[in-house]
Amino acid sequence: MSEQGQTEVESPDRRAFRVEVRSFLDAHAEPLAEVDPWAVSDFPDDAEAEAYFSRGRAWQATLADHGWAGITWPAEYGGRGGDAWMGRVFAEEAARFGSHSGFVSATIAMLGPTLLAWGSEAQKQRFIPPLLRADEAWCQLFSEPGAGSDLAGLATRAVLDGDSFVVDGQKVWSSCAQFCDWGFLLARTDLDAPKHQGISFFLMDMSTPGVEVRPLVQANGSTHFNEVFLTGARIPVEQLVGDLHGGWGAARMVLANEAAFIGRGGGSTAHRLVELARMFRRQDDPVVRQGLADAFIREQIIRLLGRRIRAALRQDGPSVVDPALTKVFAAESKARNGQLATAISGAAGVVGPDPVGRWVQAELINRFTISIGGGTTEVQKNNLAERWLGLPREPWSDKDLPWRDVPRS
Ligand SMILES: Cc1cc2nc3c(=O)[nH]c(=O)nc-3n(C[C@H](O)[C@H](O)[C@H](O)COP(=O)(O)OP(=O)(O)OC[C@H]3O[C@@H](n4cnc5c(N)ncnc54)[C@H](O)[C@@H]3O)c2cc1C
Repeated sequence: MSEQGQTEVESPDRRAFRVEVRSFLDAHAEPLAEVDPWAVSDFPDDAEAEAYFSRGRAWQATLADHGWAGITWPAEYGGRGGDAWMGRVFAEEAARFGSHSGFVSATIAMLGPTLLAWGSEAQKQRFIPPLLRADEAWCQLFSEPGAGSDLAGLATRAVLDGDSFVVDGQKVWSSCAQFCDWGFLLARTDLDAPKHQGISFFLMDMSTPGVEVRPLVQANGSTHFNEVFLTGARIPVEQLVGDLHGGWGAARMVLANEAAFIGRGGGSTAHRLVELARMFRRQDDPVVRQGLADAFIREQIIRLLGRRIRAALRQDGPSVVDPALTKVFAAESKARNGQLATAISGAAGVVGPDPVGRWVQAELINRFTISIGGGTTEVQKNNLAERWLGLPREPWSDKDLPWRDVPRS
């Protein structure tokens, strides 16, 4: 029996693999029944936030130590060298447990495939094994105060000086940067080229002199985001990924993997919504029941789309499902789940300070994490319209202009 009650006849090697996965998880992972279903990961307390981050890292190390990190990644860089179906079987079995790698799984998903495709042999050997084991935690240093949706307009500068680049500028919205050891950074290395053609991709040690991380306090008191100020920070030339000025290809690969990661769907919200309906005695309400079935259907669609996209990304082939599509779908699904949670719980859920109330509030508010992070829904829809519907491009007057001549606020 596979997840969600589908019966499949498995080949003997798959069955044996599943047994191996189960025995690892039974021995090391936290059973779902022992996990608080109403826990949220917004921590006003910095120590709690750091402890949560560290627990994710520790689980990633456990996975790596037992050969379950990077199941499809090449064995020479610390992966298992397995097939796509192995990753699926592992994910199906792991869904019965609460252990997860938290934030580091996002940057592993973004940076790992990018380094495999664009990194030098020395970079792969140096950086992929500790990335996979989370011995080194990574943050994404892309967005700037003047470059979010228009990322290619970024203004952080990197100037070659001897055997290192000197970096000056500012990044923003850098998730968990205060806990990370390394960052993957986009910086402008050619001011005279059109904006997409003058960007380079760097790996930067966050303890480099001239790197200052300042947490941003959100309305709920947590500090998930940071500003990162770069003042004369030196990055050795060996940490340039790909060609000088040619970083946009690697950046796009990070963004595609980020969209696929965000759109993959996480644990089952539908089942928690059912539990919520029971708690508030709304399970017989026909409108609520329709909403719950709808949530379940959306969750299944996201899971299946995510599976196809990940398989295509792993094989570096064209995907029949654009990562932008599943990200947009997941963002809209998250918004509908938040509305359903508040409709079920009513005022008690929206204002309640108890764990269930906090979960409902997080479901409602966190819709924006998916619809903005990793590229906004509006921008993803633009991309889909151009790539799949053949609609005309948005006006793009600065396409061939040297970056230094592009008007900026
Ligand atoms: C939870 C979360 C985590 C994040 N983590 C990171 C991180 O770790 N590292 C990092 O570098 N960044 C991170 N970001 C930043 C994120 O990538 C940007 O917020 C996002 O790309 C949007 O950029 P912006 O905020 O500057 O909005 P803007 O680009 O200023 O957009 C403002 C509004 O205008 C709309 N808009 C803009 N251009 C168009 C267009 N052409 N057509 C239609 N509408 C348009 C947008 O949809 C949006 O509604 C994170 C964001 C979130 C929410």
